[in-house]
Amino acid sequence: MSREMLFGADIGASHIRVGRVVAERVVQKIEETTGRSPQAAARQIADALLELRASGMVRLGIGCAGRVCPQTGRVVFSPNLGWRDVDLAFEVVRAAAEVGLELLVTVENDVNAGVWGEFRCGAGRGTRNIAGVFVGTGIGGGLVIGGKLLRGASGGGGEVGHAPFEAEGARCACGRRGCFEAYAGGWAVEARYERMTGRRLKASEIWARRGSDPSAAEVWSKAIEVLAHLLLMLSAVVDVERVVLGGGVVERCNGLADEVAAAYKGLVGDDWDAADVVAAQLKGDATLVGAALLAL
Ligand SMILES: [Zn+2]
Repeated sequence: MSREMLFGADIGASHIRVGRVVAERVVQKIEETTGRSPQAAARQIADALLELRASGMVRLGIGCAGRVCPQTGRVVFSPNLGWRDVDLAFEVVRAAAEVGLELLVTVENDVNAGVWGEFRCGAGRGTRNIAGVFVGTGIGGGLVIGGKLLRGASGGGGEVGHAPFEAEGARCACGRRGCFEAYAGGWAVEARYERMTGRRLKASEIWARRGSDPSAAEVWSKAIEVLAHLLLMLSAVVDVERVVLGGGVVERCNGLADEVAAAYKGLVGDDWDAADVVAAQLKGDATLVGAALLAL
């Protein structure tokens, strides 16, 4: 039997990370600024694989921002990367062949890959049913139900940030109205605070001012209420055992995960089983590890 090497890649709007995964852990990784075109990104991945001494039989799982078709390896649409209908698997296989590498490639949405990483070797370990809710600029999400990643009919399953919180509510970045993200995503918190005060601050800076700034306290108390309702919806629809809360905003706002958990438990009531709410563990490596494990 030939020896197989496993790698993961995480393609985001700003950075590409490529790493070697051994025993469910990233043992070595390279991070670069994302190339503009799919071909440039594919070349970066191929060069990174060489640098990480890939050889022989290589499996690569890619987590890519945007709407992805895991069956074909195509990126249907990635607003953050500006890519539309890109055959990413093909581009990466071709770029790798040019440097003498033979690859088996799979492509998954980056958030789904991250939730899979947390499920297999992070905060979701030991469960069968988890929801990942990642609050950064927007709100990404993913679901693992009965031990399987829920992709849905067109790969959009688990996009909890764009479920509706309020009919005819606040305008969202996705073009619809009233989404959870339009109240509790980092961009929405920052925009609401700016409308109230005329000042442009980061979501984490607004969080830090809550003790002395009533506008900051009001904006965040609304966002926590909305996130608690998002968790309540997940309990009602899929009855998850555990919710993994992560993302840049959650990481930078000390105590936010605990406050959301407390607000959610208050909404659930005594007659229902509340899900455990825990903080994500793998941070920047979740997508890389999850994508690699999905390639197996
Ligand atoms: Zn939306």
